[in-house]
Amino acid sequence: MSAETDPAVLELRNVTKTYRVKQGLFGKASLLTAVDDVSLSLPRGEVLGLVGESGCGKSTLAKILLGLEMPSSGQVLIDGTEIRAQDRLSLARRIQPIFQDPYSSLNPRKTIFDIISLPLRVHRVGGRAEWDRKVREILDIVGLPARVMETYPSQMSGGQRQRVAIARALIMKPEIVICDEPTSALDVSVQSQILNLLGDLRREFGLTYLFISHDLAVVEHLATRVAVMYLGRIVEEADVAGLFDEAMHPYTRALLKSVLTPEPGLGVPDTQLGVAYPNPIDPPSGCQFHPRCPMATEYCQTTKPVPIPTRTGHVECHLHDPNNPMKNEKVA
Ligand code: SF4
Repeated sequence: MSAETDPAVLELRNVTKTYRVKQGLFGKASLLTAVDDVSLSLPRGEVLGLVGESGCGKSTLAKILLGLEMPSSGQVLIDGTEIRAQDRLSLARRIQPIFQDPYSSLNPRKTIFDIISLPLRVHRVGGRAEWDRKVREILDIVGLPARVMETYPSQMSGGQRQRVAIARALIMKPEIVICDEPTSALDVSVQSQILNLLGDLRREFGLTYLFISHDLAVVEHLATRVAVMYLGRIVEEADVAGLFDEAMHPYTRALLKSVLTPEPGLGVPDTQLGVAYPNPIDPPSGCQFHPRCPMATEYCQTTKPVPIPTRTGHVECHLHDPNNPMKNEKVA
């Protein structure tokens, strides 16, 4: 599927989210920009991998898409209709989350049947016999036997719990699934089983995923497009082959290198960038990546880069800007 032929099922237009935060008891309130002018378009059936270090704004973006936060400015459209115009229940029918931690996202006091059938009961779909039939059906689809219906999350392994979380997300047959680090709390051996399951379900049900991860190796497995986020901005976006073959932004290249660390998929990647991730309340001037960028010039310290179109997306870096007046300036 391609962006030219399929209309976007999910579209973000210049979405910005800011928060007022107070530093200390008597400190002045400062503005924190968690999501900064993000535009993305996701055609039906595609998987957009959203990558970046923790604190880059990925989770805030997920909350906006789920209707848990409203953008400060900009628009989020599902099938062309603004998210603000949709009530929470109808939004929940169309867009569902799968969270990172299947240990805390499932209520330990409820049976697996209660957990998976909850959306049916909330949306008043059918009665007990239909809930029973639908839960059995979805358990089979996610690879769990019907006998787990009367058990509790504590009686299951991490991988089984994540299958339950997937079943709960899919029981209302949503169009879009926001997968927020769905495998990072799991053993490495179980991660690929869950990724394969998500891939199979996408093909079978024509699902569209926003797949949030700090791990490019995981994203490469599933995504059709990749957006790289840094301090709330999408600094590079490309189709998956383009990004892995010829990453253009120095930050994307650092993330790619981090995948080659001895145990990829375990915890936050070591980007080898030396300088710590900046404080979003007091972001660096010019290109916000400049204090960590091995290619930074003096121009980068003062001038914000603009999105430059590339073969399959865009990149925000002066190195690729034909109008950069300091193109031959020495690295600072
Ligand atoms: Fe590095 Fe400059 Fe490009 Fe920013 S604009 S990523 S500092 S080279």
